[in-house]
Amino acid sequence: MNHNPFKNAQKQFKTALDILELGDDIYEILKEPKEMMEVSIPVRMDNGKIKVFKGYRVRHNDARGPTKGGIRFHPHVTLDEIKALATWMTWKCAVVGIPYGGAKGGVICDPKKMSKGELEQLSRGYIRAIANFIGPEKDIPAPDVYTNPQIMAWMMDEFSKLKGYNVPSVITGKPPEVFGSKGRGEATGNGMAFITREVLKHLKMRPKKTNAAIQGYGKLGHILAYRYAEMGIKVIAVSDSHGGIYSSRGLNPVKVYEHKKKTGSVVDFPGTKTITNEELLELKCDVLAPCALENQITARNADKINAKVVVEGANGPTTPEADEILNEKNTFVVPDILANAGGVTVSYFEWAQNRQGCYWQEDEVNAKLDRIMTRAFWESVKTTEKYKVTMRTGTHILAIKRVADAMKLRGWI
Ligand code: GLU
Repeated sequence: MNHNPFKNAQKQFKTALDILELGDDIYEILKEPKEMMEVSIPVRMDNGKIKVFKGYRVRHNDARGPTKGGIRFHPHVTLDEIKALATWMTWKCAVVGIPYGGAKGGVICDPKKMSKGELEQLSRGYIRAIANFIGPEKDIPAPDVYTNPQIMAWMMDEFSKLKGYNVPSVITGKPPEVFGSKGRGEATGNGMAFITREVLKHLKMRPKKTNAAIQGYGKLGHILAYRYAEMGIKVIAVSDSHGGIYSSRGLNPVKVYEHKKKTGSVVDFPGTKTITNEELLELKCDVLAPCALENQITARNADKINAKVVVEGANGPTTPEADEILNEKNTFVVPDILANAGGVTVSYFEWAQNRQGCYWQEDEVNAKLDRIMTRAFWESVKTTEKYKVTMRTGTHILAIKRVADAMKLRGWI
């Protein structure tokens, strides 16, 4: 089945909007992004030949502030995927109450098959191509799937060269050595851990009696596993694009990550059973955290999901059809726009630090992040209970209302 993430995003938006009864004008403005850009980026590859890569930057809505969102480097990037991700960023920033709208970028490429030099040229070329589209008060990119702090450093440097002076606040997720924020690398995982802590309180579950399965063991999944282990949650399964591992006794997340760094995958970690990514999703567990790509829980496997709680680390891992099935099964789903908002929240801290030229300690960053995530969780729960809807719809209602209020005050509708 071919799932179009943008159709899914529009459906989620419409479901929440219909309940809010805010009228058609809001729908007309928010159903499509405000601006989209498609660029061609020529790169001289190591074999001496020019290869032209296609890239996108989509700005969905800027009623609440400059648009914000990551850049994805992936062979399967499509414009509709980037449009969906930009839309979700608008809601995500509103849910946690940070002063941004939503955007997203992507380049169709396979970074795993490119040399460091080729990646640098691609990163710089992409920024040159979209330079007039972005800026600290306009649109602020950040990392996403298969992009990292090094890539952000090259991009910040390229933009700064074009301007003739340092512009650190044009991009977030930079290394701490070049204007990055402490705690940004761990922020999405830390935020998910804070949310999970609150979910367990809400559902009266005890961390020490809770186990978890995590799909994806990249920059997000492994940090989440570390935090879960610290909280006393037993991590029984993890996976990456090569497959997964399971141990009913629980895994040591640090040792598993060392194994992945050495061998390229979590698979074959001693003392574990090899499972597929599909099997991981269907495991009987308390918390399931899909931290890979979109469309993992669909109408095809939703009735086989055995978790009590799903905490969405990836963007768009659950389709609307699957949501209905999970709802019937009483699965507590913390939607992506809330669960993984820790990343963009610390991006906001980074942007604020860059603009002030003063830098915070890591414990300060984490304490502020905890406050924002905890407040957003309970506001979402309150809205969900008020409207008697699913957490996804409740969280969307909270976000859409904030965006709609801003648009009204600005006289857009
Ligand atoms: N790519 C991340 C997300 O999907 C972070 C975006 C940002 O920090 O701007 O939320």
